[in-house]
Amino acid sequence: MTSLPDRVEAASVLLSEPEVSLMGYTRPAEGGFVEEHIERAARECYQSQARMSPQSGKRFIRGIILRGHESVLEHASATFRVLGGSRAYTHEQVRHRLLSFSQQSQRYVSEDDFRAVLPPAIADSAEAREVFVESLESARKAYKRLKELGLENEDARFVLPNAVESGIVISGNFREWRHVCRTRCSAAAQWEIRRICGLVLKSLQELAPAVFGDLMLDEKTWIATHISETVDCAEAQKTVNRELAKLEKKNQPPGRILRRLADDKLYAALFHVKRCLCAGCTATFAACGDLK
Ligand SMILES: Cc1cc2nc3c(=O)[nH]c(=O)nc-3n(C[C@H](O)[C@H](O)[C@H](O)COP(=O)(O)OP(=O)(O)OC[C@H]3O[C@@H](n4cnc5c(N)ncnc54)[C@H](O)[C@@H]3O)c2cc1C
Repeated sequence: MTSLPDRVEAASVLLSEPEVSLMGYTRPAEGGFVEEHIERAARECYQSQARMSPQSGKRFIRGIILRGHESVLEHASATFRVLGGSRAYTHEQVRHRLLSFSQQSQRYVSEDDFRAVLPPAIADSAEAREVFVESLESARKAYKRLKELGLENEDARFVLPNAVESGIVISGNFREWRHVCRTRCSAAAQWEIRRICGLVLKSLQELAPAVFGDLMLDEKTWIATHISETVDCAEAQKTVNRELAKLEKKNQPPGRILRRLADDKLYAALFHVKRCLCAGCTATFAACGDLK
């Protein structure tokens, strides 16, 4: 005779890895990549489409992000399908009002055979795991019993736990995805949404490296650190001042520093001095002139 935990585990499908798949994204009608689409749209502002080249995109898009002209990122969007996330996760995700969602219905879809997300902390403890699985099975039985009593899915679902898996499709423009990834791939965010948004960010970085590459993702913790935080004040000021000195030597205006943004080190340094409120960084950023 098997023990209770063995019997209930046999009935419960426990999920420990979410699946995030890219369903679609913006592509220019005339062919090419999503970043070209953003660049072409943004260049409408300056009527500078003729200056587009295979090398111009990275520097141009970085310049836009650095200056906070992020509305142009709204011209591109991406859609993801997330499986293996819990209702606890989806409840947090749908708080992002500028994303669009289609989520598995608990009215039209029966939860007779629901799968459940197993939190790693519960998985780590045999005792906690037993409590978890027993409670899942009790909810499953209650759900089935209510259905047998003639209740509809929409009422029977009130006995279901937060752990129940809920499929969801999410679309968002790149500006909002940047906001969501920065907010949710942080140490303060809950582990499940952090991991799922980390997988979203990883996919977006492959799709549009100039747009999402300033968020440095650690795939062990799924925490993203902004590139400006990877450099300290002294180093950032030195890097920017060295570049300004080169421009001065060539009698070029300091604002031309933006043309060198394809350089990762300079991009991080400029972002740092722009964001940092210390006197040295503020003065260094001011020396860059009017970065329009
Ligand atoms: C660590 C963490 C803990 C949290 N804890 C809680 C909690 O305990 N309780 C709780 O209720 N929520 C909690 N939340 C959710 C949080 O309050 C937000 O609802 C969620 O993060 C969505 O963020 P948002 O409003 O910035 O973004 P979005 O809805 O994605 O909007 C993006 C941006 O658009 C702008 N925007 C959108 N709508 C408006 C508007 N109506 N008016 C003005 N500007 C707008 C804002 O600039 C906003 O940042 C938590 C979130 C995090 C990351």
